[in-house]
Order: sequence, then structure tokens, then C-alpha cells
Amino acid sequence: LTSGLEAAWNKLKGEEVLTKENIVEPMRDIRRALLEADVSLPVVRRFVQAVSDQAVGVGLIRGVRPDQQLVKIVNDELVKLMGGEVSDLEFAKSGPTVILLAGLQGVGKTTVCAKLAFYLKKLGKSCMLVAGDVYRPAAIDQLKILGGQVGVPVYSEGTEIKPSEIAKHGLEEAKKKQIDVVIMDTAGRLQIDKSMMDELKEVKKVLNPTEVLLVVDAMTGQEAAALVTTFNIEIGITGAILTKLDGDSRGGAALSVREVSGKPIKLVGRGERLEDLEPFYPERMAGRILGMGDVLSFVEKAQEVMKQEDAEELQKKIMSAKFDFNDFLKQTRAVAQMGSMSRVIGMIPGMAKVTPSQIREAEKSLKIMESMIEVMTPEEREKPELLAESATRRKRIATESGKTEQQVSQLVAQLFQMRVRMKNLMGVMENGSIPALSN
Ligand code: GDP
Ligand code: MG
Repeated sequence: LTSGLEAAWNKLKGEEVLTKENIVEPMRDIRRALLEADVSLPVVRRFVQAVSDQAVGVGLIRGVRPDQQLVKIVNDELVKLMGGEVSDLEFAKSGPTVILLAGLQGVGKTTVCAKLAFYLKKLGKSCMLVAGDVYRPAAIDQLKILGGQVGVPVYSEGTEIKPSEIAKHGLEEAKKKQIDVVIMDTAGRLQIDKSMMDELKEVKKVLNPTEVLLVVDAMTGQEAAALVTTFNIEIGITGAILTKLDGDSRGGAALSVREVSGKPIKLVGRGERLEDLEPFYPERMAGRILGMGDVLSFVEKAQEVMKQEDAEELQKKIMSAKFDFNDFLKQTRAVAQMGSMSRVIGMIPGMAKVTPSQIREAEKSLKIMESMIEVMTPEEREKPELLAESATRRKRIATESGKTEQQVSQLVAQLFQMRVRMKNLMGVMENGSIPALSN
């Protein structure tokens, strides 16, 4: 897939912008690369459409070449396609968490049991494995050996008893031992058949599992996505585990599962060792598929710079508009809120402690300011100069708000001080001045 996409980027070298015309060829390459990677056709179609729409509409980031920008768009769409965020395992709120594993024969279910226990043990959870594959005695031995390697108990009752019975007894045992997570291994078949589905449904009913995870082999490409869909419809699953990703160079399964089935890939297996199981990170997967980490981080940095410039622009706008009593009120309220937050901050070692009396003091003075601003006319709020110029106005406000003239004068002076302070803060060099209040 990586090499297939390279052709797409190469075709854009030397172009100035992305246009409807010049992305036609590259998009064809992307489409071909995805199909060759065994991504299902409807997914490919939607993907190519989404990327095209964005590529043409997008404003070019300064300093970024069109081919680099397309890499970024494709990357972001890949991440979205795979569900965006990592999808964590759920744990039961009370009692043991039960994880039921299902899947065809040879996909790696039994191996996943052990890997999962190994993974969860590291998270501090106690685990128990339940041997539910009653068709092959060797399967039980395999689970026992693996359980021994991880150091977790394996519950088994041989091959002469129904899986749903084993599940029931296993769960009872786990409750008795206060185990955090029960992982149930089940028997696969070479192909989907009714007896397997019935068996799984029965086991699921008994266990009432927190997670039902379908284990699928990444090497089967888009077939994996179809299986996840079918199992979800038949028994209802919560997600998938994609195994043998180490042997899969095409990526089709990883790309299709979420979009086709609506179910997330929760974990991936990348090898035969116990530690070769990890959460599925769409972002990392996309990065691996594209193999262009340096381009991506470059484009991201360029985007950051653009964002920063936008923010500065905004600040300038705010500053050029005159800071009035409305802004003053907003600011002061925000600061007052931070005051109550500082109760929390005060608990952090090394941070200046704000005493409760200081907070009360700040809240009190905010109330006084508010009562004065409330009786100002809208014009006075917007043009503080009016108050600076007229003692009559200040007197009126004092009377109406029940405060002294001195308090009103203080408030007006404070506003002009704030104007100057903010200008300085913003590094705007023009000299702000504080008018002397006239009589
Ligand atoms: P089950 O029939 O679904 O229980 O499959 P098993 O757990 O017995 O695994 C079948 C084979 O696949 C074993 O040889 C495993 O070592 C191998 N296997 C499982 N997971 C992975 C993986 O992520 N990568 C590789 N390379 N091999 C795996
Ligand atoms: Mg097995």
C-alpha cells in the first residue's frame, strides 16, 4: 500500500495548488493502491470521494507543497476511517469482567487468551482463562501451557461437557476467587456454521459478557471485515481483535473492519510472543501505512504556525477595539472565577496559596464593581471617556448604585489602567495614557 501511494504523491510534485484536474491521476493511484491492499470496494469509493472533496476545497498551508498536503489529507481520512480514537476495553462495574472470544479456527483465539491475560496482568488485573474448546483435547493442553507461562489459572473440565456448562462453572469459580477478568476461549470452525453460532449464543447467554470479541486474521484482508459483520449480526459482538498483523503487508483488514461492520478493532496481535498484543491506534496504523511520518509532522507544524497567526490576528482585533466597561466586566468575572479555582490550585505544592479571605475580598469587590456598571447607560459602558470627563455622570452613578463618588472614580481609573496594562501585555507599542479625571 505504501509503495502504491507513492505514485500518487509523485504526480503532484511541481504543482502549485491542488485542483479538481490535477488530483484526478493521484486519486486513481490511491484507489488502485487501496484495492490492491484488499480494502473493500464500497469503502474505497467513499474514501476516495472524501479525500477528493477535501483536497479541492482546502486552502493551501503556507510553505507546504500540494503533494505534502494531500499526504496529510489522506492520513487524516485513514485515521477517521479506522474510527479515529483508540477503542478501549470495557470493564464491568461490579463483579468479574467477562471477555468472550470467538472466531474461526486457527486465527489465534487461544493465543489471544494468553496474550490478553498477560496484557491485563500488567494493568494490575487478576485473570482466569476458561477452556471452552471441547473438540480438541490438544486445545485444552495448549491453553494450560499458555496459562502457565503467564501465571494465571486455567479452568477446564475436559471435553465431555457442553461449553455453556463449562462457562457457567468457570464464572462461579472466578466469582469465588474474586478474579477481575474471566477470558473464555471457544472452539472455532474452518468456516462459519450454525453449530458454532448456536454454541456461541448459548455461552454468551450464560456468561452475559462485558466484551464479546471476534478474533480475525489480518491476512484474510477484506474477508475479515465481512466476518466481523456476520458475527455481529448473528451473536452480537463488541469489537474485534486483529491478529497476525506482523504478516500482513497490505492493511486491508485494518482499514475495512470499522467502516464495513461498524464495530471497532480493539486490539491487534503482531507476533507469536505473549507481549505481542497491543491496543489498536488508528493514528499509528495510518502512519505506518503511509510511511511518511516526517511529511506529516512537517504539515502539522505548518498548520500550527497558521493557527498561531490567526490567533494573533484575533488578539490585535480585540485590542484595536476599545476596551470598555462591558469587556471590563467580562474580564473581571473571568478573573473572579479563577479566584475560586485557585482554591484547587492552592492544593498543588509549589503554587502560591490564595487564602479564603483573599477570595472573599475579590468576590466582594467584584459585586461592588458590578453594581456600579449596572447603572451605567449603554453609552457610558462603551465610552468610559464620558465618565472620565464628567463629574456629574460619576455622581449620578454613585447615587444610583449606592456607592461613593470616590468608588466610582476608582472604577473608572481602574479601567484605564487595565487598558494600558493590556496594551503593554500585547506588546503594542503605541502609548496608552491614563486621563486625569476632570472635575
Ligand atoms: P485458534 O485456533 O484460533 O485458537 O488459534 P491459535 O491461538 O491456536 O493460533 C494459531 C497459530 O497462529 C499459532 O501457531 C499461533 O502461534 C499463531 N498466531 C497467533 N497470533 C499470531 C500473531 O499475531 N502473529 C503471528 N505471526 N502468529 C500468530
Ligand atoms: Mg484455539
